[in-house]
This record gives sequence, C-alpha cells and structure tokens, in this order.
Amino acid sequence: MAHVVVIGGGLGGLPTAYELRHLLPKEHQVTLISDKAQFTFIPGLIRVALNLKPLAEIQLDLQTLTEPRGIQYLAGKVIVLDPEQQIITTDRKQQIHYDYLAISTVASLTFDAIPGLGPHGGYPHSVCTPEHALQARSAWLEFLENPGSVV
Ligand SMILES: Cc1cc2nc3c(=O)[nH]c(=O)nc-3n(C[C@H](O)[C@H](O)[C@H](O)COP(=O)(O)OP(=O)(O)OC[C@H]3O[C@@H](n4cnc5c(N)ncnc54)[C@H](O)[C@@H]3O)c2cc1C
Repeated sequence: MAHVVVIGGGLGGLPTAYELRHLLPKEHQVTLISDKAQFTFIPGLIRVALNLKPLAEIQLDLQTLTEPRGIQYLAGKVIVLDPEQQIITTDRKQQIHYDYLAISTVASLTFDAIPGLGPHGGYPHSVCTPEHALQARSAWLEFLENPGSVV
C-alpha cells in the first residue's frame, strides 16, 4: 500500500487529490493537507473585491469535499519537509509519513521586494488572497463614496 500526500487544498491540490483517488486502487491512501479549512476559488476573488459576490460563495468546506470521496483530510500548516525520511511535520505537531508527495501551495507573495507595493503599508490593493480581497472590497466601497482618480 502506498500513501500519497497532497499539500495544499486549492486549485492545484484539490483536483490532484481527486484525480489520484480516481486513478489509484483503493488499497492506496490519498491524504490532503491544508492550512485552511476551506477551498477558495481564487479567480473569484476579483468579484469579491468589487463587491459583486460574497466571499462565502466562492469557498467550500474541504472536509466535505474530501472525506466522502475517500480522501483523508488533515488540517494543518506544513512547516517541515524531510525528503530523506519522507516525513512531513505540521504546526499541529502531526508527523505524516508519505511514499509519494504532491505540493501545490501557490507562489509566495513578496510585496516587500518593491517599496510601496502591496496592501501592507503600500499603495495598491491585492486580490491574491481572501483576506486581501476583503480589504480591497472595503477600500473600493470607501472609494465609491467619494470617487476620484484610480489607477
Ligand atoms: C485574482 C486572480 C485571478 C486568477 N485568474 C485565473 C484564471 O482566470 N485562470 C487561471 O488559470 N489562473 C488564474 N489565477 C491563478 C490561479 O488562481 C493560481 O495559479 C492557482 O490558484 C494556483 O493554484 P495552487 O493550488 O498552487 O494555489 P491555491 O489555489 O492558492 O491553493 C494553495 C493552497 O495551499 C495551502 N497552503 C499553502 N501553504 C501551505 C502549507 N505550508 N501547508 C499546508 N497548506 C498550505 C493554502 O491554504 C491553499 O489551500 C488567478 C489568480 C488570482 C489571484
């Protein structure tokens, strides 16, 4: 029996876990680990930022999406990856041994690489994460109260 672990419950990780479960015989175990309890359809964040859709409408509960389909779901942030021992450690102190690993944890945002960029102390807003899209929505609604120039 092989244990296949997928890190990341987003646009890459969730379909990967589905495909693996679909393709692999039942004796093999598929586990999805995510630090967020929900799947977010990231491209939908643009509509959230423009107040055209509530965030909840582009999110789904990961446990509900995985466990009824025979995929084990583990909540936790992967903080250590030991490729020699093939062991993953999460921030909840879980240690998981894997035979095969798929990683889909998106690109890291590095706003601080450019002075003035990004929503944390910079000028622009971002729609890259749910938190950023909600911040951008607040700023957009405030802007609509008293519109002016926008880039
Ligand atoms: C506004 C916007 C619009 C877009 N529109 C399009 C489009 O039209 N077409 C297109 O092809 N692409 C589009 N993209 C790009 C697309 O959304 C990304 O390429 C895609 O989401 C990347 O998939 P992913 O699985 O790597 O990351 P995500 O979908 O972001 O998922 C990453 C997952 O990994 C989890 N995670 C991260 N780190 C850890 C960790 N250490 N431990 C456990 N879990 C972790 C996160 O919680 C999350 O669940 C858009 C992106 C944005 C921001």
